[in-house]
Amino acid sequence: MTTALVLAGHGSHISPLTAGLVWQQVDQLRAMGVADEVTAAFWKEFPSFATVLNTLAADEVTIVPLFTAQGFFTRNVIPAEMKLTGTGTQRDGRTIRYARTLGEHPFLQEVVRRRVEDTLKVIDASSKNVGVALIGHGTKRNPQSRAATEAQAQHLRDLHLAGQVVAVYLDDTPSIPDMYELLNTPRIIAVPNFLALGSHTTIDVPEAIGLEAGQMIGDVNGRMVYYTDPVGVDESLTAAILELVTQVGANLYPPKAGTMWDAFPTAGRDELLCAVHEQGEIRFGQLILTPSEVRVEGEFERTITTLDDLRDYVRTSPKFRPLSTSNDLPSGWRVLISESEMIHAVVETVYPGAVADWVAQRNGSFTVQTLNEVAKRQQGMFHQLEDFERTAEIVQRVCAGCARQPTWFNGHQGVIPCSEACNLWMSAALEIEE
Ligand code: SF4
Repeated sequence: MTTALVLAGHGSHISPLTAGLVWQQVDQLRAMGVADEVTAAFWKEFPSFATVLNTLAADEVTIVPLFTAQGFFTRNVIPAEMKLTGTGTQRDGRTIRYARTLGEHPFLQEVVRRRVEDTLKVIDASSKNVGVALIGHGTKRNPQSRAATEAQAQHLRDLHLAGQVVAVYLDDTPSIPDMYELLNTPRIIAVPNFLALGSHTTIDVPEAIGLEAGQMIGDVNGRMVYYTDPVGVDESLTAAILELVTQVGANLYPPKAGTMWDAFPTAGRDELLCAVHEQGEIRFGQLILTPSEVRVEGEFERTITTLDDLRDYVRTSPKFRPLSTSNDLPSGWRVLISESEMIHAVVETVYPGAVADWVAQRNGSFTVQTLNEVAKRQQGMFHQLEDFERTAEIVQRVCAGCARQPTWFNGHQGVIPCSEACNLWMSAALEIEE
């Protein structure tokens, strides 16, 4: 019996930090050796919710939604994309467990309390004169999305840490600027009830508060505002994830001292390593794989030695690349290979999920979903793409810059086939549809 963990997050087309928090946790869990395979899955990036299970060979998979609350994504989107039937799904001889969200674990309550207590020490004023604005995302599509932030706010009120506590929302009412009407204290602690330092917490929320990006303390219309880190940026996050995994009934191995090169998804790994050793050199997208190094073309500039450096470099140089297979990898780097499995780990880090598609094509098990099939299972706006009439035009515009072949559209397979329209593609299509 082999086990796998999937940390499911939102991802972003704007900021590398949103998925970055999830990948940090993946790296940590891989090094702890608690499961045979550990990976991430995202709504906006690769590997996608819909395809990540193809990358794993384990008989038992546990999915942990890294969201602050049960809401639209955890109740609607993830189950629809991953074809889950509840907390336990049996499919193709595999058990898939779906854990609760972080918002249902005491971890978040503890971090929120600590954020307020730590800031009160800095403020050094009577807590009666301090108000707390707990800032949630909220969405009008699902009233449940705000329930967790409201529950956190009530928990803070019960602790009597501050004179007043309100819950406000980025995408719902009361809005973030409403906190200045709702609170009458001269000092306000603003706690973003978000997990990551992504575009919402570094750009959208500070702007709505009236702070500059990066400003943590400021005078806004005569009120001192103290903006804290989001609640997911905390060392105890890994422990909370592991508890959620065991609570849903999954068995984990005792932690050991491994490295972040361990516990990668294994679908296609052995075949890829075999091909590299047999052929001496193969091209995989923009990567050149040999038994001694993985590199991209271009004048040699640097050797990268760690996987977190590699991920950071290929995702953000010279700017954020939300589509991992876009044809604009930074050039002139290499990773030296001392153990064969490292070749696969590098490919999986640069192109998450692509090895599974490569091997499925080679062994004849690769399947595609038409745009209509993908649109039909959508829970939100992408549903409008059913019977979309300008598919060829968007393929020309978006897929032309991608190392994958849009197999779902033209039947061509290439080295890395693409089984269905990705989130970036559908976002581009929706823009012209609206
Ligand atoms: S839909 Fe197009 S752009 Fe998106 S991953 Fe597939 S081939 Fe690449």
